[in-house]
Amino acid sequence: NTVQTKHLIEQSEKFGANNYHPLPIVISEAEGVWVKDPEGNKYMDMLSAYSAVNQGHRHPKIIQALKDQAERVTLTSRAFHNDQLGPWYEMICELTGMDMALPMNTGAEAVETAIKAARRWAYDVKGVAENQAEIIACIGNFHGRTMTAVSLSSEEEYQKGFGPMLPGIKLVPYGDIAALKAAITENTAAFLIEPIQGEAGIVIPPEGFLKEARELCKEKNVLFIADEIQAGLARSGKMFACEWEGVSPDMYILGKALGGGVFPISCVVSSKEVLGVFNPGSHGSTFGGNPMACAVSMASIEVIKEEKLVERSLELGNYFVDQLKEIKNPMIKEVRGRGLFIGVELTEPARKYCEALKEEGLLCKETHDTVIRFAPPLIISKEDLDWAIEKIVKVLG
Ligand code: PLP
Repeated sequence: NTVQTKHLIEQSEKFGANNYHPLPIVISEAEGVWVKDPEGNKYMDMLSAYSAVNQGHRHPKIIQALKDQAERVTLTSRAFHNDQLGPWYEMICELTGMDMALPMNTGAEAVETAIKAARRWAYDVKGVAENQAEIIACIGNFHGRTMTAVSLSSEEEYQKGFGPMLPGIKLVPYGDIAALKAAITENTAAFLIEPIQGEAGIVIPPEGFLKEARELCKEKNVLFIADEIQAGLARSGKMFACEWEGVSPDMYILGKALGGGVFPISCVVSSKEVLGVFNPGSHGSTFGGNPMACAVSMASIEVIKEEKLVERSLELGNYFVDQLKEIKNPMIKEVRGRGLFIGVELTEPARKYCEALKEEGLLCKETHDTVIRFAPPLIISKEDLDWAIEKIVKVLG
């Protein structure tokens, strides 16, 4: 009986803009690593809403924080203070080792905020001439879908029909230190990088690159901005993926799991020197820093720490990659990953394998056509992971 599912999909296709191509499954319930469709079929979530659900679906502690806060106050706007924002600021600064934070709602908004901060820092602190500031980003990046974020992109499809793009952006190949060196000028405000490229297909930079790029930025007085919206918060087996090379960036951009998949919240965190460039009136958001988001976010961060999700991700991720590497099939080009942030690159389109995995009860999504991303909630048990591996072996083996 798939009447409900069929109806709900048709309804979405009729009334919704066609900007996504979802797998034909409707999720109506979820708990931990498992989701259900309206007919009661159960699936394992191997995508975690693009790493927004690192803590698992509806984590009890996070849901409790949501409920408690909903009983008290949900939105004040920033015209007034609220009693959750201060504690959240302190917690996020402590977690990142930074001085200051600025909360927004979605990842792309936080990227916008980072670019605004970097540009203003370039003018006010570095002394770049007015309107000359440049941002260097990487080929293959994904920073979201707003105009600034698509302007940063190297994907033609993301920009087609949306011009004119934001000026002042340069792109360099991901992991190419010589190209980065050549691209930096006296007008360069920032180098923006995902320490692991997620949407590009879980692409890990060549060893040493992050460290060298970080040092180069320091030497040239360029901000090193790490977009850890997807790779951060335990996903890669470190709290932040920059830690894989012992790098402390000038700024982190965070989102997704910052709200535990329960409530949207994103932020940038940086030094006083950088975030100090904002003054009242220069930036804002009606919902940014709202008490619901802050309460949920604090519980989400606590869950990451209390349940040792960094260690779990690393340990189970290593095991998962080893098991995937055992699968012998010439159409598997590469298995790569850090922690439970894993890409299996095929020599052919991955969609049909994702559809086959769905039939086996495993929800995955192809990224960049030929890559299957495996990124389960980090609370996954070894037993559940073994169940998933069995299904993957059946489909890919
Ligand atoms: N940056 C990175 C690295 C991302 O992976 C994403 C989303 O996938 C974004 C930014 C955009 O986040 P959002 O979709 O919340 O705007």
